[in-house]
Amino acid sequence: MIFKSAHYCIFVQNKSGMNTTEQVEKILADTNLSTELQNIAHKVLHGERITFDEGVYLYEHAELGYLGVLANSIREQKHGDKTYFNRNFHLEPTNLCVYDCKFCSYSRLIKQKEEGWALTMEQMLDIVKKYDGEPVTEVHIVGGVLPQYDVAFYSALFTAIKQHRPDLHVKALTPVEYHYIFKKAKIDYATGMRLMKEAGLESIPGGGAEIFHPEIREQIAKDKCTGEQWLAIHEEWHKLGMRSNATMLYGHIEKYWHRVDHMEKLRELQDRTGGFQTFIPLKFRNQHNQMSNVSESSVIEDLRNYAIARIYMDNFDHIKAYWAMISRETAQLSLNYGVDDIDGTLDDTTKIYSMAGAEEQTPAMSTKELVNLIKQVGRKAIERDTLYNVVTDFENVVFEEEKKPQYYKLPVVN
Ligand code: SF4
Repeated sequence: MIFKSAHYCIFVQNKSGMNTTEQVEKILADTNLSTELQNIAHKVLHGERITFDEGVYLYEHAELGYLGVLANSIREQKHGDKTYFNRNFHLEPTNLCVYDCKFCSYSRLIKQKEEGWALTMEQMLDIVKKYDGEPVTEVHIVGGVLPQYDVAFYSALFTAIKQHRPDLHVKALTPVEYHYIFKKAKIDYATGMRLMKEAGLESIPGGGAEIFHPEIREQIAKDKCTGEQWLAIHEEWHKLGMRSNATMLYGHIEKYWHRVDHMEKLRELQDRTGGFQTFIPLKFRNQHNQMSNVSESSVIEDLRNYAIARIYMDNFDHIKAYWAMISRETAQLSLNYGVDDIDGTLDDTTKIYSMAGAEEQTPAMSTKELVNLIKQVGRKAIERDTLYNVVTDFENVVFEEEKKPQYYKLPVVN
């Protein structure tokens, strides 16, 4: 498959033959390109940061082919062909929630309790135990917000998981839950995050960020923590020497400058702490929520957004796309637009994607399928742990069933 845009082609199945520097130089030699786009390409070639206004300009004026060349050159400078995934499972304590985010397809408010679930500590630990002996490296814990899940509950849960399986990395909750439980416990963020660390928490996923700017946040998620509070909690966590991720929910009622404002705030915090690992743009889906009248972004816009994120977020090591949310094919395409990580849930323990109308209704993929998905587009598959230590480099791995001799049914010749 080939995407053509003006003078630039991004090959998905095959690479163009030019190295990424030559591709950017080709852009710079294009006399038809606007001065602004020339300047941005020049900055990317020389590893310089682009400004807020340049970020907005890219959203408003840059073609997909141009963005792909720049984003891919940054991606390959940072990671070459490496494409990361991990083996984890999701633990979702509840889909009942005291909040009422307009875009949320997941939460069943307490008044719709019959459609919801709320797991006990014992039920959660039983789920963890189901993975005993499985080669998973991480448990990702996230769900709705309910009063019974408080500081004491989560502390006990993290401690119990680490006692049962010390090698399992606990990545859990977002500032939405932390703000709520710390406020309820009357403790400040610094104290709360220290208590969570002592209990066994090892990193924070990127959720709950949505769009930071109050103009949008107050329309789509007005009750939960503000953008400033989200950033402050990550900052306290980073001060403890710990790592986290960041997301952005895009493609709904926000304007392009709101996206750049969101990325700018993350970039500023990252300059101060260096604690973020990965930026994850999340595509807004419009099924089963209160924003069903808002159209979803196109695949082209999704790829443009990944590429601009890669160009703008110069101090973030990784850009991630959730294959389960955007489809396997778009995930493959995204690897040429700045993405170097496609997550890797290997079973269907999460309901978050499917309830929002994601492409994958039963997001399950074996390691072999995931590795082949990456290799099919000429990239190298690397299984990582949560902190991007290499678990397995799949470059020369041959899967068991591929070693078996193949027998074909031949026509009988009389
Ligand atoms: S997005 Fe999160 S905080 Fe908002 S309603 Fe859904 S589960 Fe609750």
